[in-house]
Amino acid sequence: MTNQKDDVNPGDDAAPGTAGTGEVPCPDCNGTGDLNGVSCKNCGGTGKVIKGVGGA
Ligand SMILES: [Zn+2]
Repeated sequence: MTNQKDDVNPGDDAAPGTAGTGEVPCPDCNGTGDLNGVSCKNCGGTGKVIKGVGGA
């Protein structure tokens, strides 16, 4: 089972909800969450990664 509350994937810069960050389409799977038929490990299959936004 995965911890859904603080589920940080390898492609994430920070945990979801962190101030100054936002979800962007995963560059590895182009936001599909799928890489060659398997769950993308970079985004954990969500198709999104958390990246810092704006100037921090
Ligand atoms: Zn991905």
